[in-house]
Amino acid sequence: MIISIDSLSEKIRNNIMNISTKHKLKLVSVALEPDKATLAYLNSQRRLSKKLHIDYEVIETNSKKELIETIKKLNNDESVNGIFLSQPLPFDSHEVSIYIEPKKDIEGITPYNLGNLIYGKSIFKPCTADSVVRILRDFTEIDGKRVAVIGRSVIVGMPVSVMLASKENNATVTICHSHTKNIKDITLNSDIIVAAVGHPEFITKDMVRENSIIIDVGINVVDGKIVGDVKKSVRDIAYVTEVPGGVGEITSLILFENLTKTILYK
Ligand code: NAP
Repeated sequence: MIISIDSLSEKIRNNIMNISTKHKLKLVSVALEPDKATLAYLNSQRRLSKKLHIDYEVIETNSKKELIETIKKLNNDESVNGIFLSQPLPFDSHEVSIYIEPKKDIEGITPYNLGNLIYGKSIFKPCTADSVVRILRDFTEIDGKRVAVIGRSVIVGMPVSVMLASKENNATVTICHSHTKNIKDITLNSDIIVAAVGHPEFITKDMVRENSIIIDVGINVVDGKIVGDVKKSVRDIAYVTEVPGGVGEITSLILFENLTKTILYK
Protein backbone atom coordinates (compact mmCIF):
# COMPACT_ATOMS: atom_id res chain seq x y z
CA MET A 1 0.00 0.00 0.00
CA ILE A 2 1.38 3.37 -1.03
CA ILE A 3 1.07 6.66 0.84
CA SER A 4 0.05 9.23 -1.75
CA ILE A 5 1.68 12.64 -1.52
CA ASP A 6 -0.27 14.14 -4.44
CA SER A 7 -2.63 16.41 -2.52
CA LEU A 8 0.14 17.64 -0.18
CA SER A 9 2.39 18.29 -3.17
CA GLU A 10 -0.32 20.30 -4.92
CA LYS A 11 -1.05 22.29 -1.77
CA ILE A 12 2.61 23.28 -1.34
CA ARG A 13 2.94 24.15 -5.04
CA ASN A 14 -0.08 26.44 -4.71
CA ASN A 15 1.38 28.05 -1.57
CA ILE A 16 4.57 28.78 -3.51
CA MET A 17 2.89 30.10 -6.66
CA ASN A 18 0.65 32.41 -4.63
CA ILE A 19 3.78 34.28 -3.54
CA SER A 20 6.20 33.67 -6.43
CA THR A 21 3.82 35.15 -9.01
CA LYS A 22 3.61 38.37 -6.96
CA HIS A 23 7.16 38.77 -5.60
CA LYS A 24 10.55 38.45 -7.27
CA LEU A 25 12.40 35.66 -5.49
CA LYS A 26 15.88 34.28 -5.97
CA LEU A 27 17.54 31.10 -4.75
CA VAL A 28 21.31 30.65 -5.00
CA SER A 29 22.83 27.18 -4.57
CA VAL A 30 26.49 27.02 -3.63
CA ALA A 31 28.56 23.93 -4.25
CA LEU A 32 32.15 22.87 -3.63
CA GLU A 33 33.67 21.10 -6.64
CA PRO A 34 30.34 19.46 -7.57
CA ASP A 35 30.49 15.94 -9.02
CA LYS A 36 28.13 14.58 -11.70
CA ALA A 37 25.46 13.49 -9.21
CA THR A 38 25.48 16.91 -7.54
CA LEU A 39 25.25 18.72 -10.87
CA ALA A 40 22.31 16.50 -11.86
CA TYR A 41 20.56 17.38 -8.59
CA LEU A 42 21.25 21.10 -9.05
CA ASN A 43 19.86 20.87 -12.58
CA SER A 44 16.64 19.35 -11.26
CA GLN A 45 16.48 22.25 -8.78
CA ARG A 46 16.89 24.66 -11.70
CA ARG A 47 14.04 23.01 -13.62
CA LEU A 48 11.75 23.14 -10.60
CA SER A 49 12.58 26.79 -9.90
CA LYS A 50 11.63 27.67 -13.48
CA LYS A 51 8.25 25.96 -13.10
CA LEU A 52 7.71 27.85 -9.85
CA HIS A 53 8.64 31.29 -11.28
CA ILE A 54 11.73 31.62 -9.11
CA ASP A 55 15.12 33.02 -10.20
CA TYR A 56 17.92 30.52 -9.74
CA GLU A 57 21.70 30.53 -9.82
CA VAL A 58 24.41 27.99 -9.04
CA ILE A 59 27.82 29.13 -7.80
CA GLU A 60 30.58 26.54 -8.00
CA THR A 61 33.58 27.03 -5.70
CA ASN A 62 36.95 25.29 -5.47
CA SER A 63 37.89 25.55 -1.79
CA LYS A 64 36.33 25.83 1.67
CA LYS A 65 37.64 29.41 1.90
CA GLU A 66 35.98 30.38 -1.39
CA LEU A 67 32.75 28.66 -0.29
CA ILE A 68 32.66 30.67 2.94
CA GLU A 69 33.50 33.94 1.13
CA THR A 70 30.69 33.25 -1.36
CA ILE A 71 28.19 32.63 1.45
CA LYS A 72 29.21 35.87 3.18
CA LYS A 73 28.65 37.82 -0.06
CA LEU A 74 25.25 36.19 -0.61
CA ASN A 75 24.23 37.05 2.97
CA ASN A 76 24.67 40.74 2.08
CA ASP A 77 23.17 40.57 -1.40
CA GLU A 78 19.66 42.08 -1.23
CA SER A 79 18.61 40.33 -4.45
CA VAL A 80 19.17 36.89 -2.89
CA ASN A 81 16.36 35.47 -0.75
CA GLY A 82 17.75 32.07 0.12
CA ILE A 83 21.01 30.10 0.11
CA PHE A 84 21.21 26.35 -0.53
CA LEU A 85 24.41 24.63 0.55
CA SER A 86 25.03 21.58 -1.61
CA GLN A 87 26.02 18.50 0.43
CA PRO A 88 27.80 16.20 1.13
CA LEU A 89 30.97 18.19 1.81
CA PRO A 90 34.40 16.64 2.38
CA PHE A 91 34.38 18.08 5.95
CA ASP A 92 31.82 18.66 8.71
CA SER A 93 29.14 20.92 7.19
CA HIS A 94 29.01 22.85 10.50
CA GLU A 95 32.30 24.50 9.46
CA VAL A 96 30.39 26.27 6.69
CA SER A 97 26.72 26.32 7.76
CA ILE A 98 27.64 28.61 10.69
CA TYR A 99 28.24 31.41 8.14
CA ILE A 100 24.77 31.30 6.54
CA GLU A 101 22.50 34.15 7.62
CA PRO A 102 19.61 32.41 9.50
CA LYS A 103 17.00 34.49 7.63
CA LYS A 104 18.37 33.11 4.33
CA ASP A 105 18.84 29.58 5.71
CA ILE A 106 15.90 28.07 3.85
CA GLU A 107 17.22 24.55 4.54
CA GLY A 108 17.05 25.15 8.30
CA ILE A 109 20.59 23.83 8.80
CA THR A 110 22.30 26.65 10.69
CA PRO A 111 23.00 26.14 14.40
CA TYR A 112 20.65 29.10 15.04
CA ASN A 113 17.69 27.46 13.32
CA LEU A 114 18.45 23.92 14.50
CA GLY A 115 18.85 25.16 18.08
CA ASN A 116 15.61 27.09 17.92
CA LEU A 117 13.86 23.96 16.59
CA ILE A 118 14.04 22.55 20.12
CA TYR A 119 12.31 25.69 21.40
CA GLY A 120 9.73 25.29 18.61
CA LYS A 121 10.82 28.71 17.30
CA SER A 122 13.11 28.12 14.28
CA ILE A 123 12.63 30.45 11.32
CA PHE A 124 13.01 27.48 8.97
CA LYS A 125 12.77 23.77 9.77
CA PRO A 126 15.13 21.31 8.04
CA CYS A 127 13.34 20.51 4.77
CA THR A 128 13.60 16.70 4.81
CA ALA A 129 12.52 16.43 8.44
CA ASP A 130 9.64 18.80 7.74
CA SER A 131 8.73 16.75 4.68
CA VAL A 132 8.49 13.58 6.82
CA VAL A 133 6.35 15.28 9.45
CA ARG A 134 4.00 16.91 6.94
CA ILE A 135 3.50 13.65 5.01
CA LEU A 136 2.66 11.94 8.30
CA ARG A 137 0.31 14.70 9.45
CA ASP A 138 -1.41 14.62 6.08
CA PHE A 139 -1.90 10.84 6.26
CA THR A 140 -2.59 10.01 9.90
CA GLU A 141 -3.01 11.17 13.49
CA ILE A 142 0.46 11.28 15.07
CA ASP A 143 -0.56 12.19 18.62
CA GLY A 144 0.24 9.36 21.06
CA LYS A 145 1.74 7.09 18.39
CA ARG A 146 4.96 5.15 18.90
CA VAL A 147 7.52 6.09 16.26
CA ALA A 148 10.86 4.44 15.47
CA VAL A 149 13.24 6.83 13.72
CA ILE A 150 16.16 4.95 12.20
CA GLY A 151 19.05 7.36 11.70
CA ARG A 152 20.32 10.26 13.83
CA SER A 153 21.90 12.61 11.30
CA VAL A 154 21.85 16.35 11.87
CA ILE A 155 19.69 17.02 8.82
CA VAL A 156 17.22 14.11 9.01
CA GLY A 157 17.09 11.71 11.97
CA MET A 158 17.69 14.16 14.82
CA PRO A 159 15.40 17.00 13.68
CA VAL A 160 12.63 14.60 12.65
CA SER A 161 12.78 13.03 16.14
CA VAL A 162 12.64 16.44 17.83
CA MET A 163 9.73 17.54 15.67
CA LEU A 164 7.71 14.35 16.18
CA ALA A 165 8.25 14.39 19.95
CA SER A 166 7.39 18.11 20.21
CA LYS A 167 4.16 19.31 21.80
CA GLU A 168 2.92 20.05 18.29
CA ASN A 169 2.93 16.34 17.36
CA ASN A 170 3.07 14.43 20.68
CA ALA A 171 4.56 11.19 19.36
CA THR A 172 6.68 8.89 21.50
CA VAL A 173 9.95 8.53 19.65
CA THR A 174 12.70 5.91 19.77
CA ILE A 175 15.85 6.94 17.92
CA CYS A 176 17.85 4.06 16.44
CA HIS A 177 21.38 4.13 15.01
CA SER A 178 24.23 1.81 14.15
CA HIS A 179 24.79 0.89 17.83
CA THR A 180 21.14 0.05 18.52
CA LYS A 181 20.58 -3.57 19.51
CA ASN A 182 17.58 -5.54 18.22
CA ILE A 183 16.12 -2.86 15.96
CA LYS A 184 13.49 -5.37 14.86
CA ASP A 185 12.00 -5.47 18.39
CA ILE A 186 11.68 -1.69 18.27
CA THR A 187 10.18 -1.48 14.77
CA LEU A 188 7.71 -4.29 15.52
CA ASN A 189 6.58 -2.28 18.54
CA SER A 190 6.04 0.91 16.55
CA ASP A 191 2.99 2.34 14.80
CA ILE A 192 5.19 4.45 12.54
CA ILE A 193 8.73 3.91 11.20
CA VAL A 194 10.90 6.63 9.67
CA ALA A 195 13.72 5.00 7.72
CA ALA A 196 16.64 7.41 7.23
CA VAL A 197 19.53 4.96 7.17
CA GLY A 198 20.97 5.18 3.67
CA HIS A 199 21.06 1.36 3.26
CA PRO A 200 19.03 -0.05 0.37
CA GLU A 201 16.12 -2.26 1.48
CA PHE A 202 17.12 -2.04 5.17
CA ILE A 203 13.51 -2.42 6.33
CA THR A 204 12.05 -5.81 5.48
CA LYS A 205 8.58 -7.32 5.88
CA ASP A 206 9.47 -9.27 9.04
CA MET A 207 10.44 -5.99 10.77
CA VAL A 208 7.06 -4.27 10.50
CA ARG A 209 3.59 -4.66 11.94
CA GLU A 210 0.61 -5.08 9.64
CA ASN A 211 -0.96 -1.74 8.66
CA SER A 212 1.89 0.26 10.15
CA ILE A 213 3.01 3.48 8.47
CA ILE A 214 6.49 3.76 7.01
CA ILE A 215 8.20 6.88 5.70
CA ASP A 216 11.08 5.96 3.43
CA VAL A 217 13.65 8.77 3.41
CA GLY A 218 16.44 6.76 1.79
CA ILE A 219 17.89 7.63 -1.58
CA ASN A 220 20.31 4.90 -2.66
CA VAL A 221 21.63 4.13 -6.11
CA VAL A 222 21.67 0.42 -6.97
CA ASP A 223 22.58 -0.67 -10.52
CA GLY A 224 21.94 2.87 -11.72
CA LYS A 225 18.45 2.96 -10.18
CA ILE A 226 17.23 4.95 -7.18
CA VAL A 227 15.90 2.77 -4.36
CA GLY A 228 14.82 3.56 -0.83
CA ASP A 229 15.62 2.10 2.59
CA VAL A 230 12.45 0.00 2.56
CA LYS A 231 12.08 -3.22 0.61
CA LYS A 232 9.23 -3.06 -1.92
CA SER A 233 7.53 -6.19 -0.48
CA VAL A 234 6.86 -4.28 2.76
CA ARG A 235 4.08 -2.54 0.84
CA ASP A 236 2.13 -5.84 0.91
CA ILE A 237 1.37 -5.36 4.60
CA ALA A 238 2.11 -1.70 5.48
CA TYR A 239 1.59 1.84 4.17
CA VAL A 240 4.84 3.12 2.65
CA THR A 241 5.99 6.27 0.81
CA GLU A 242 7.50 5.81 -2.64
CA VAL A 243 11.12 6.29 -3.69
CA PRO A 244 11.71 8.18 -5.94
CA GLY A 245 8.90 10.66 -5.34
CA GLY A 246 7.59 10.62 -1.78
CA VAL A 247 9.77 12.38 0.77
CA GLY A 248 12.22 13.67 -1.87
CA GLU A 249 9.51 15.41 -3.89
CA ILE A 250 8.01 17.13 -0.84
CA THR A 251 11.49 18.07 0.43
CA SER A 252 12.29 19.89 -2.84
CA LEU A 253 9.01 21.78 -2.68
CA ILE A 254 9.44 22.74 0.99
CA LEU A 255 12.79 24.33 0.11
CA PHE A 256 10.97 26.67 -2.30
CA GLU A 257 8.08 27.18 0.10
CA ASN A 258 10.64 28.32 2.69
CA LEU A 259 12.08 30.66 0.07
CA THR A 260 8.67 32.36 -0.27
CA LYS A 261 8.65 32.89 3.51
CA THR A 262 11.86 34.94 3.33
CA ILE A 263 9.80 37.95 2.21
CA LEU A 264 8.57 38.14 5.82
CA TYR A 265 12.13 38.80 7.00
CA LYS A 266 13.26 41.36 4.42
P1 NAP B 1 23.69 9.70 7.29
O1 NAP B 1 24.20 11.01 7.77
O2 NAP B 1 24.62 8.73 6.64
O3 NAP B 1 23.00 8.98 8.54
C1 NAP B 1 22.59 7.65 8.48
C2 NAP B 1 22.13 7.20 9.86
O4 NAP B 1 21.76 5.83 9.78
C3 NAP B 1 23.21 7.34 10.93
O5 NAP B 1 22.66 7.90 12.10
C4 NAP B 1 23.65 5.89 11.17
O6 NAP B 1 24.00 5.61 12.52
C5 NAP B 1 22.37 5.14 10.86
N1 NAP B 1 22.70 3.77 10.47
C6 NAP B 1 23.62 3.36 9.56
N2 NAP B 1 23.65 2.02 9.51
C7 NAP B 1 22.76 1.58 10.41
C8 NAP B 1 22.35 0.29 10.83
N3 NAP B 1 22.86 -0.82 10.32
N4 NAP B 1 21.40 0.21 11.79
C9 NAP B 1 20.85 1.33 12.32
N5 NAP B 1 21.20 2.57 11.97
C10 NAP B 1 22.15 2.69 11.02
O7 NAP B 1 22.51 9.88 6.26
P2 NAP B 1 21.37 11.02 6.13
O8 NAP B 1 21.96 12.23 5.56
O9 NAP B 1 20.57 11.10 7.38
O10 NAP B 1 20.48 10.34 4.99
C11 NAP B 1 19.84 9.09 5.19
C12 NAP B 1 19.24 8.63 3.88
O11 NAP B 1 18.28 9.59 3.47
C13 NAP B 1 20.24 8.56 2.71
O12 NAP B 1 19.85 7.51 1.85
C14 NAP B 1 20.09 9.89 2.02
O13 NAP B 1 20.43 9.83 0.65
C15 NAP B 1 18.61 10.11 2.19
N6 NAP B 1 18.20 11.53 2.16
C16 NAP B 1 17.04 11.78 1.52
C17 NAP B 1 16.55 13.07 1.48
C18 NAP B 1 15.26 13.33 0.79
O14 NAP B 1 14.89 14.48 0.60
N7 NAP B 1 14.49 12.30 0.45
C19 NAP B 1 17.27 14.10 2.09
C20 NAP B 1 18.44 13.81 2.79
C21 NAP B 1 18.89 12.49 2.82
P3 NAP B 1 25.31 6.26 13.21
O15 NAP B 1 24.91 7.65 13.58
O16 NAP B 1 25.54 5.39 14.39
O17 NAP B 1 26.41 6.23 12.20
